[in-house]
Amino acid sequence: MDTWWLIILLPLSALSGWLVAQYSHREKVAKTSVKKLPSAYFRGLNYLLNEQSDDAIDALKSVVANQSDSAEVQLSLGNLYRRRGEIEKATQLHENLLTVTKSDESLHALALYELAQDYQKAGVLDRAENLYLELIDSGFQTNAACMQLLQIYEQEKDWNHAISVIDNYMADNTEPTRVRKSHYFCELAELSIADGSFNEAKKFLQQASLSDSTNFRAIIQTGRIEAALGHHKQAMNLWKQVIEKDSLYVREVIEHIANAYRALNDEKGLNRYLSSVIDQHKSAKAMLLLTENILKSAGNQKAEEKLEGWLRNNPSIPGLIKLLEIKLNSQSLSTKQKRDLNLLSRLLENVMRSRFAYQCRQCGFSGRHFYWHCPSCRSWNSITAQRTVLG
Ligand SMILES: [Zn+2]
Repeated sequence: MDTWWLIILLPLSALSGWLVAQYSHREKVAKTSVKKLPSAYFRGLNYLLNEQSDDAIDALKSVVANQSDSAEVQLSLGNLYRRRGEIEKATQLHENLLTVTKSDESLHALALYELAQDYQKAGVLDRAENLYLELIDSGFQTNAACMQLLQIYEQEKDWNHAISVIDNYMADNTEPTRVRKSHYFCELAELSIADGSFNEAKKFLQQASLSDSTNFRAIIQTGRIEAALGHHKQAMNLWKQVIEKDSLYVREVIEHIANAYRALNDEKGLNRYLSSVIDQHKSAKAMLLLTENILKSAGNQKAEEKLEGWLRNNPSIPGLIKLLEIKLNSQSLSTKQKRDLNLLSRLLENVMRSRFAYQCRQCGFSGRHFYWHCPSCRSWNSITAQRTVLG
């Protein structure tokens, strides 16, 4: 090697030595501990990041074999086993860890938390539940254990226990927790409505609104109870409030509102209201309901004219399908014209079936139906109606 560039590097290395000396003690400790970690650990980490779980497991196993104090690495290995569905291996590993970590409370709690998740994934929910409760008692991993317990109670539809977890162990002042608790009360109300116990249901819905005053589900359900009790005017007002506060819920309540008007024999009022919803919110569902009314009261030609006018301003596939249906009923069409319109109508129906009208704000899950509880990420109140030509 040439020596001339060593002469240049010497002062540089002296400077870098000085710079290194300026680092805090903390950074030094961190550096030393990073150095201590075996290369297999980093290899394992790299495989994990690349989602190569087979290779990650091999690398982590070699770290475990070479290091006696590797509880953290064993925890990662067990976690990987569980994610791959190798529950028995994960459970064995975590049970062993429970015995060797007895002197370290926080590591012991981590092993307990992992074991509980093994049982949960295996569907042995009562054991998982007991371990999470044990963790909460111990004061370690409390929040994580509470979240898992809520998942178990949601799965079992045990809303009372879910509420008591929030009341007893969680600070219910954060928005996601308040929203969640509010929906648990709505679920209880739903069960009471199904039983015909409307007073009990109303009490649950009051609690739901106390937890989250912006929970439209509670308002919609209260409307359903009022309607079932024959109080159609009150029910209608509640549902209209929902639309005024958030027009994304038009699709969910407009049919209820129409039924309330009909129960009050106020067909004219209904038509006026539907017209205003079409104007203000461009709702395809309101357009379809009003078209049906015009069809019954004024016949095909009038309905066709009205619908064509609305569709020019607010094009929507369900509206177009309805228009084709009305045109197909017209006597003046030739057989060929009818065949063409039928083909177009079937095509549009296929487009409707292949597109989604709802999406989850949290995970992006898309579907054709509305849910209060996302079937994918299990978030509450995260599904929202898409404003598209699908109406
Ligand atoms: Zn989701």
